[in-house]
Amino acid sequence: MEMRALFGMELAELVALMETLGEKPYRARQVFEALYKQRVHSVEDMTTLAQALRSRLMSEGFCVELPEMVQTAVSVDGTERYLMRMADGETVETVWMPDGDGGERGDGSEAAEEEATEVVGAEEAVKAESFWGRRGNGRARSNFGTLAEKGFRRATICISSQVGCAVNCQFCLTAKLGIRRNLTAGEIAGQVAAVLNRHKIQIGKDRINLVFMGMGEPFLNYENFIKSVRLLVEGLAIPESRMTVSTSGILPGIEAFAGERLRPKLALSLNASNDEVRERIMPITRKWKIAELLEAVLKIPLRTREWVTFEYVLLGGVNDRREHAREVLALLHGIRAKVNLIVWNPGPGIDYVQPTTEDVAVFQKMLIEGGIATYIRRPRGRDIYAACGQLKRTVADEDHDFVTIRAAAV
Ligand code: SAH
Ligand code: SF4
Repeated sequence: MEMRALFGMELAELVALMETLGEKPYRARQVFEALYKQRVHSVEDMTTLAQALRSRLMSEGFCVELPEMVQTAVSVDGTERYLMRMADGETVETVWMPDGDGGERGDGSEAAEEEATEVVGAEEAVKAESFWGRRGNGRARSNFGTLAEKGFRRATICISSQVGCAVNCQFCLTAKLGIRRNLTAGEIAGQVAAVLNRHKIQIGKDRINLVFMGMGEPFLNYENFIKSVRLLVEGLAIPESRMTVSTSGILPGIEAFAGERLRPKLALSLNASNDEVRERIMPITRKWKIAELLEAVLKIPLRTREWVTFEYVLLGGVNDRREHAREVLALLHGIRAKVNLIVWNPGPGIDYVQPTTEDVAVFQKMLIEGGIATYIRRPRGRDIYAACGQLKRTVADEDHDFVTIRAAAV
């Protein structure tokens, strides 16, 4: 019997399903709540449904079908990388990055902004307290409490949108896989549900940020990506202001995105300061030039305090020179932009070198002096190969045991 996944269906689809089954429409709402609020793993666990209906759904081949975590790697920095297996056996990777240790400051995420505000607040308090001479700095700082005292947790989940990627950026390990298939909306949102369950996260209390920055190009799987956003917002109750989608620059995607009702924040992988360099490292530039991409970005109606993030992977000697920084400044002039500099993460068979620490610092300083908020993204989980551009295919051997192709630790 062919199994049919319930996870991934929107309320309207569940209403239609109940109708074909001759069930009352309110049953659809119950299934919806069980799938996305309670995040159940099986139809049997949908205890708000009458047993007869549960049995009926199961006998007709309906199941929840969350991606299965078949492997977990835990980094020294708390980052976790999961191998997620879909119903057809294809696998993608999903990454969990606990925040709140100060390390994400400046990584461009909402958590980073919150943390920066809190730290500024703490520093202000320290100043005020020392001014009034009541207590030492250490005590004042501790008034802000640890995350546990605050009673909530904070983390960022990085999700994949495709099995592999068709875009072929020369510096990215995922590109080596080619594209195997798109993920469905349920498979994209399902990665989030599986990770939330593993960490027993309570949405509404804990602060979860999502980044569509795992394997794949979200804008080449546009409909499923947007549907997953609806499921995540309307079902799992994660606000779209806590989500960032990163694109390599798919022009029709950016144009469609500008008109969406539910829209995450946008990050554009700029990665070069002119079309010539960009074409060499991102051949897709032959199709869409930087100027066209920026023009489309300018048409996005930004919300209050919303910025567009420009990611810039620094490749030693290729795009990290002073003249490149000057060109970036000229390109981004007049755009509500912030820049995330990402030090290139090496991978096997990829022929680039990392920029020097000094070059990275100079690049950042030049952009900041030019008036652009610029951060250096801290690599997360490099020891477990979970950092940007390091997600890759994992293969099943003959016994269907899952083994990861691991490169040497970096
Ligand atoms: N396909 C989308 C989203 C996934 S890649 C995109 O390209 O934007 C997420 C980010 O990782 C992109 O900004 C990409 O430029 C960057 N990246 C890819 N490979 C990398 C590597 N080896 N080291 C550092 N960053 C990398
Ligand atoms: Fe695909 Fe993004 Fe990697 Fe480019 S950087 S190959 S678009 S995943």
